[in-house]
Amino acid sequence: MQALTNPSPRGVIERYRTHLPVTAGTPVVSLGEGSTPLIPCPRLSAAVGRGCEVFVKYEGLNPTCSFKDRGMTVAVSKAVEQGTAAVICASTGNTSASAAAYAARAGIRCAVVLPAGKIASGKLVQAFAYGARVVAIDGNFDDALRIVRELGARPEFAIVNSINPDRIAGQKSAAFEIVEELGDAPDLHLLPVGNAGNITAYWAGYREFHREKRAVTLPVMLGFQAAGSAPIYHDRIIAAPETIASAIRIGHPASWTGARQAIEQSHGAIDIVADDEILAAQQWLASREGIFVEPASAASIAGLFKCCEPGRAPRYGFDGVKEGSRIVCTVTGHGLKDPDAVGFDLAATVQPNADNVLRAIGF
Ligand SMILES: *Cc1c(COP(=O)(O)O)cnc(C)c1O
Repeated sequence: MQALTNPSPRGVIERYRTHLPVTAGTPVVSLGEGSTPLIPCPRLSAAVGRGCEVFVKYEGLNPTCSFKDRGMTVAVSKAVEQGTAAVICASTGNTSASAAAYAARAGIRCAVVLPAGKIASGKLVQAFAYGARVVAIDGNFDDALRIVRELGARPEFAIVNSINPDRIAGQKSAAFEIVEELGDAPDLHLLPVGNAGNITAYWAGYREFHREKRAVTLPVMLGFQAAGSAPIYHDRIIAAPETIASAIRIGHPASWTGARQAIEQSHGAIDIVADDEILAAQQWLASREGIFVEPASAASIAGLFKCCEPGRAPRYGFDGVKEGSRIVCTVTGHGLKDPDAVGFDLAATVQPNADNVLRAIGF
């Protein structure tokens, strides 16, 4: 029997090698990330109306259940190539889950600095399961990133936060996939914004394929911050950011400039969504389209609903959703990451017979 040399064509580096900062000599540390589904959403399209077609890019289906894996495969591969002994990151949860997994895969150490008491339970479980060394600090994410920047200056560590350009390079792959699947860029692209690496990466990816004539158009980029954590929207650092959407609870984004450029160059906008709008959108998407995402991810869906309300167009030059638009919303992480964000009541226990069960389920 012939040996399988490449049993899986999946993986961001193998799929987009020529667009990434890797060479034939770079060891590829991959878990088959990327190639996530772009799901057509008929009910969401109907809610938007105006003949628009809405797609959801479901990034929760990456190996550690968030988009962070797209950048982490590149960042950890480069770290191994450079002979680094350990990766280190600050995290609101998903970066640490991803870094820990890819470090485990590579056989190197992973250190994680987290804001104490602020990490969704599913994400914390992942960091421990993959064997990372986890330190909680009495501070917020921005404090954690400051410490990591300081420690990252030491030769034994590679920082794998999105200040590492290899992360951004890998994350461009999501835009490439969308262009390949739609045959062009969408008219509008909506996504949540925290540290702003992802909006920076998508815009870089779209521009790259546009330059190479693989896309005729460029999308309008719309980024959404949580109302209590909206430094870019307010154009000032937020000292104590608050929101239920822990993955975007960031007061001093590292890629602030990248986000501003994406918004200005694409004639897009940055806007805010309130926590109750985020939770309503999370529930809407799960119960009407069958797509369960964590709260931060639902910010893009809440943002889409907001864009469609008359008189509530976001700031900057964006002038509303046009007739017949093709719209992509990135949903960044899986709903199981943050089970506590979903309220539910298990119906009261009933005696074990069919009539009682029928009555209990309301038939
Ligand atoms: C990291 C993350 C974000 C924010 O992305 P940035 O690149 O920091 O703007 C949003 N949602 C989820 C689920 C994340 O893990």
